[in-house]
Order: sequence, then structure tokens, then C-alpha cells
Amino acid sequence: MTDLLPAERDRILAKAAHFSPPDYVLADGRRDLVGLSREELIREMEGFGEKPFRAKQLWHWIYHQGATDFSVMSSIARPLQEKLAAHFVVSRPEVATDQLSKDTTRKFLFKFRDNEAVETVYIPDRQEDRGAVCLSSQVGCTLSCRFCHTGTQRLARNLSAAEIVGQFMATRDAYGEWPSPKGETPRLLSTIVIMGMGEPLYNYENVAKALKIIMDGEGIALSRRRITLSTSGVVPIMDRCGAELGVNLAVSLHAVTDELRDEIVPLNRKYPIKELIAACARYPGASNARRITFEYVMLRGINDTEAEARALVQLIAGLPAKVNLIPFNPWPGSSYHPSTPEALRKFANIVMDAGYASPIRTPRGRDILAACGQLKSVVENAA
Ligand code: SAH
Ligand code: SF4
Repeated sequence: MTDLLPAERDRILAKAAHFSPPDYVLADGRRDLVGLSREELIREMEGFGEKPFRAKQLWHWIYHQGATDFSVMSSIARPLQEKLAAHFVVSRPEVATDQLSKDTTRKFLFKFRDNEAVETVYIPDRQEDRGAVCLSSQVGCTLSCRFCHTGTQRLARNLSAAEIVGQFMATRDAYGEWPSPKGETPRLLSTIVIMGMGEPLYNYENVAKALKIIMDGEGIALSRRRITLSTSGVVPIMDRCGAELGVNLAVSLHAVTDELRDEIVPLNRKYPIKELIAACARYPGASNARRITFEYVMLRGINDTEAEARALVQLIAGLPAKVNLIPFNPWPGSSYHPSTPEALRKFANIVMDAGYASPIRTPRGRDILAACGQLKSVVENAA
């Protein structure tokens, strides 16, 4: 099986390129600097006859200070600021809608230059003044997990690195979360989960580029320990993700038999449970400190019996893991129902007794359709 992986991996990456985002050049010919890797930024500056340290300065302004206007970049002389502004922009996606839940979860619909849009959710921690930003990786999704709202939306295209980083930066803007002149560091937006719309490992190149920008120590500087990527189980790309990014991994398991998983997570027909678990076992850094999270959406009468809880424990035996039990979040037209609180409790207890942390994830932002699996971007065209 493992021998087939490289060919399969190349096929997936080639297919992803087919859904590539447009390479934005504004109508006036200016290019966006957001989303360029450090090396690309250095090359752009070289084209201007500037030394690599210019790129370093720009990087600091763009990703550490959150500047969008060249005129505030005080370490750069005015004539060069003007020259840069004539050729480049530092952009953000447009905030098309901004909704606040009664539980203070906040959902943005971000619109890009070609009018495609995705949703991004900020989920504050309950006690502390911290929280997670849930980023989308694709407009829609090619997969069609039966319980997921995004899965009903066809894949329009992949997001670019700029659009993935842009979601985070625009959320920071909304919370005024850039370092203050006094040097106070941002706290609120303290973790990132790639759990929004889309399957991140089907857009691996752009997700990886975005995460490398986000993890860069001279910019946003979020450590890989504060980033979790959730996949429905794209086995051939999981190894690369572990080796190159080393972020925390969450795996959407949701069923303990291939028969059921084939039905509710159709990707299972390609990469069945045994191969998925083997890929988890190979995932680097899987130690007790860096456990793999198995996500399990609790669907009433479908996957929530005590026997299934016991089978789950056997399946992940020996893996450093925790299990996130997600109550099913309904959406307009969905055909499943959430498990009863009793079924949830019994299931959680069995997993817990086997030595795995098994928090039941309280749904957040349900009233604004911001909870897991409720995201779907609909841009209303003013007709
Ligand atoms: N495509 C990736 C990441 C986005 S989905 C993945 O599937 O892992 C993030 C999580 O929400 C996944 O575990 C997904 O299975 C779960 N989810 C999807 N629809 C849901 C729903 N209606 N209720 C609860 N969780 C859901
Ligand atoms: Fe896509 Fe994840 Fe939704 Fe499945 S659960 S349809 S992989 S976004």
C-alpha cells in the first residue's frame, strides 16, 4: 500500500492545481504582497534593486505590525514608500457580513476579488481572553460528508495562501489585535484551527504556504503547537503535512466500521479506516504531548451506541490520542439528529474509562450557523 502513496499523492496535488485560485494582479497592474513567501518577497525587492533586508523590513510591517499602508512603514524612506505603493498593495479580503452569536462567537463572510467567499469563525474561550480562529481552506468542498453543510456546496476553487493568511489578518483587524506601539502582544487570537470550509489536504500547497507564513518567527509567529489542521483522511498527504508542517492533527473519524464510514464520509471508500489509522500512527511527533485528535460527530441512532464507543477505543488503542465528541449541528435540510444527552454521556464515559480524554464539544455559535459543519458561503448578488 505504502508504495502506491507517492503516485496517489502526485495525482491529488495535480488535481488541486486544477482548482487553483486566480493570481491576483489588480486592474491597475499592482500586485498583492500578502501571501508571498519570504523568498518571493526577496525576489520582488531584487527586481527593484533593493537588498534582501528590505524584504525583511516589509515582512515585519506586514505580518508583525499588520500594516496595510506603505506610508506608515516608518523604517522605509518616503520615496521608496511611494514607489512601493505604485507597484504593490497589502490587501485584506472584504468583510461581506459580520455576525455575532449570543455566546460571543463571531462569524465573518469574507469576499475575494473574484466575488467568491468563505466563512471564518472566531471562537472565544469561555473563561480566558483567548480564542481560536477557524479558517477555511476552499470555497466549498469536493467531498460530501452526509452530515456537513459545506459538503452540499460544490467546490468552486481552492483558496490561495494570501486568502488563507488574509482571513486571519482580517480577523485580527476586527479585534484590533496587532501589537500596540507599547509592544503589548496580541492574546485574543491565540490559536488557529483549519476546520472551516473545505478539505485542507486537497489544497495542500496553498495551506502549507499560508501556514509557513503564519508560523514565521518574525511575523505572526504562531507556533505549530497552536495550530490544528483537520482532515477527513486524505492519507497520501498526511505524511507530507507531518514532515513539513508538524502542526497538530485532527482526524474526522465519525465511524468505526468501513461500512458506515463509506456512507457518511465517502472519502473512506478510497482510504479506509485501517489505512487512515496507520497514517495516524506514522504522524510525526505523536507523543503524549502532541496527541492526535479524533473527531467524532454524534449522530442519533447512526453511530452513537456503547458498542461503537468500545470499538472506537480498540481502533485507536496504542495511539497517543484524544477524542472530540461533537454533537451534531443541524442545518437547513439536514437529515440527521443530535444524539441524546444520555447517549453522549455513556459514549464519553467508555472512551474516558479507556484512558482517553473525551471532551464533548459544546456547540458554539449555532444561532448564526457558525458551529462545526454549518458553514456554507452564499454571496447574495444584488440583482
Ligand atoms: N474538511 C475537514 C475540516 C472541516 S470540517 C474535515 O472534514 O475534517 C470540521 C469538523 O466538523 C469535521 O470533523 C467535520 O466532520 C465536522 N462536522 C461537519 N459537519 C458537522 C455537523 N453538521 N455537526 C457537527 N460537526 C460537523
Ligand atoms: Fe468537506 Fe470536511 Fe465537510 Fe466532509 S466534513 S464535506 S471533508 S468540509
